[in-house]
This record gives sequence, C-alpha cells and structure tokens, in this order.
Amino acid sequence: MRRTELDRFRKRLEEKRREVQELVQAARTTESQHGDTETPDLGDRATDAFNREVSYGVRINERDLVRRIDRALGRIESGEYGKCVNCSKTIQKARLTAVPWARHCIECQELLDRGDL
Ligand SMILES: [Zn+2]
Repeated sequence: MRRTELDRFRKRLEEKRREVQELVQAARTTESQHGDTETPDLGDRATDAFNREVSYGVRINERDLVRRIDRALGRIESGEYGKCVNCSKTIQKARLTAVPWARHCIECQELLDRGDL
C-alpha cells in the first residue's frame, strides 16, 4: 500500500479512536453521576457494578474497538496493515475504508462469521 494511503487510514483510525474514547468517557461520567444515589450499601454496589458492566455492553464493545484500532495502528507501523492475518492476501480497499481496523479479508471474515475459521 502506498504511504499516502497508509497515512489516510492512520488518520481515520486515530480519529475513530478519539471518537470512541469520548463515548467511553461520556458513559463513565453518566454512570458516576447516578452511582451514589442508586446504590446505598457496599454489597449492593458491587452487584450493581457488575450489572452495569453487563448492561453497558456498548461500552465494553467500545473498549474492544479501541483495542482493535490500536492493533491496526501497530500493523501500520510494522508494515503489515492491509494484509489478511489468515491468508495474507491484500484486504479489499473498500473493506478497509468501511472497517479500517479489519484484520481479515472478506472471504476469511465470512468463514469466521460462520464459525469455520
Ligand atoms: Zn483472508
């Protein structure tokens, strides 16, 4: 992949990372604002924290997304970006544009989604 293209993807990834982290931050702020009034004793609070982790599934996925973005940025640095981690084929550019942190080409992703990989 050309340097200019790599830079473009890097910029997209960095933007997305910031965006996601702001969302995570916002979720955390909302949570701490509600936390104290709704959970009077410590035992309940522990359970509540667990329930929140589950109910805030979106937030967990966002954390996962940050990890994926970080890995993609790492692959840009190591020169492996845009290559399928399974079959080493070049990942389609349209796919990278839609999902810049993609690690698999379309074919391998389909196998993965079906549970065949
Ligand atoms: Zn592949």
